[in-house]
Amino acid sequence: MRIYLSRPHMSGHEERRVAEAFASNFVAPLGPQLDAFEAAMRDYLGADVHCVALSSGSAALHLALRIAGVGPGDEVWISSMTFAGGIFPVNYLGASPRFFDLDPASWTIDTARLSGELAKAAAENRLPKAIVPTDLYGQSVDLDTLESLAARYGVRLIVDSAESLGATFGNGRKAGTGGDAAILSFNGNKIITTSGGGMLVTRHEHWADEARFLATQARDPAPHYEHSTYGYNYRLSNICAAIGLGQMAVLDDRVARRRQIFARYREALAGPGIGFMPEPGDRRATRWLTAITIDPAQAGTDRESVRLALLAQGIEARPLWKPMHMQPLYRGAPYHGEGVDERLFETGLCLPSGSDMTEAQIDEVIGHIRALTG
Ligand SMILES: *Cc1c(COP(=O)(O)O)cnc(C)c1O
Repeated sequence: MRIYLSRPHMSGHEERRVAEAFASNFVAPLGPQLDAFEAAMRDYLGADVHCVALSSGSAALHLALRIAGVGPGDEVWISSMTFAGGIFPVNYLGASPRFFDLDPASWTIDTARLSGELAKAAAENRLPKAIVPTDLYGQSVDLDTLESLAARYGVRLIVDSAESLGATFGNGRKAGTGGDAAILSFNGNKIITTSGGGMLVTRHEHWADEARFLATQARDPAPHYEHSTYGYNYRLSNICAAIGLGQMAVLDDRVARRRQIFARYREALAGPGIGFMPEPGDRRATRWLTAITIDPAQAGTDRESVRLALLAQGIEARPLWKPMHMQPLYRGAPYHGEGVDERLFETGLCLPSGSDMTEAQIDEVIGHIRALTG
């Protein structure tokens, strides 16, 4: 593989931060670098939120759902087009998902449809415990609408912002500050990375306290190990947090570069049958991955031909997330939609979008695609 979809992109600050952690022997799950990483994120988000650094984004979602009280017999309403880590924690807790389609104008959860279903569910006394919309490919959901729906119906709102750190919406509000809680991911392929890691961001101080408690094996205050509930070993290592500290210094640059890459692709590839993920006027996405659609009736080629042609050149491109209601695991789960997500899966392709791509690499990808689309 010569050109990857999205690779870790170090800034040069990380090794010094890790060396500092070593020098003080904080080669442990807790330590000053972890505290500093959480504080840096809180400063960056610039909102009245609490940040808890964890071993992954999935761990953050697991804790958020547990703290929201999700358990066996509960429903969680969720965007169908998402990544496994953004839904599997629903299974960990014995709850059931109900899937929602996307709004074609934003490729984020269709809030009109969600609103209609919430009204019906309220009338039938079967409201979900929580709603989990995804900031798809780095585009913030319509948070104002979602927050007012969650408040009206008294359901918890947990936003999957794993792909949208650095995105804004509305009057410059930052993605990752929404709902009762938001989750972030620092996996190797995300906007910034700690090699692996995640964060729970919440406006409720008691959620943050409980997340820290549950993430460190639920130890009650006592000199010995005392437990009145079960927990997890979910804290981020202090060494990984040191990498994250180095990455925070370049977060806005990373987002700017990904947006630039998207703009380059759009300029060079826009044409009959080629579509790009839309960006509504009040939102500024991270463009974590450039997502395009290829309409075989007009483009003279199809998604799979383009993907395979790129692969033959050592270029990694991937279909969009396969909607969860189409996965064998979730066969039979309720789905509300018209298949906007199904069509995006059929025709959509994520192009190499790493912030470390060179101009020559972008040109190379463009050249191969243009050769097929004429
Ligand atoms: C990456 C990602 C996650 C999970 O993050 P991990 O840190 O890999 O556990 C969850 N949801 C979405 C949409 C993601 O892209």
